[in-house]
Amino acid sequence: PLSGRVQLSRAVGDLIPWAEERSITFSMHTPEDEMMVMGETDGLLHVFHNLLNNAVKYSPVGGVITVSAEDDGESIVFSVEDQGPGISREHSTKVFERFYRVDENTIDGSGSAGLGLAICRRIVKNFGGEIWHDGYGEGTRGARFCFRLNKPEESVVTNI
Ligand code: ATP
Ligand code: MG
Repeated sequence: PLSGRVQLSRAVGDLIPWAEERSITFSMHTPEDEMMVMGETDGLLHVFHNLLNNAVKYSPVGGVITVSAEDDGESIVFSVEDQGPGISREHSTKVFERFYRVDENTIDGSGSAGLGLAICRRIVKNFGGEIWHDGYGEGTRGARFCFRLNKPEESVVTNI
């Protein structure tokens, strides 16, 4: 089992130039910028990149993307939430299938293969975690993707 580092400022950093072009800002709600989870650093960055890419793509101009991490002691739940059109319940599990796209959400057509979320799911499952869409809470508008990964045992951390 591998443990990897999630550095949120770095994950978000890659998307900042594109977000700025559309006046989209990021709001970070995390206990720390860097966290250790079961997984591998590049794969974790890839998951964030795909989720944040979607969030920027579907955000309205001037929108806010909220990135959060919650540590429950054994695992960390990360979430990426935007203020775009959201995803109806009917599509909420299907969007993780390869090539699946929600037609009414498709903005430009180009650069949209319908693979990003399938890749996220494969990576997260490989790391022993789970990923889901949960954008139906009180006050939630837009899409909200969450994924949970276990934290490494203390002994694993100190061996790195
Ligand atoms: P790719 O990621 O391969 O460039 P894509 O973004 O279309 O293409 P996914 O990331 O797998 O593919 O997303 C699948 C579909 O889910 C999208 O086409 C879109 O319809 C919907 N979707 C994904 N993220 C969001 C979001 N944040 N808001 C609204 N709809 C979304
Ligand atoms: Mg995508």
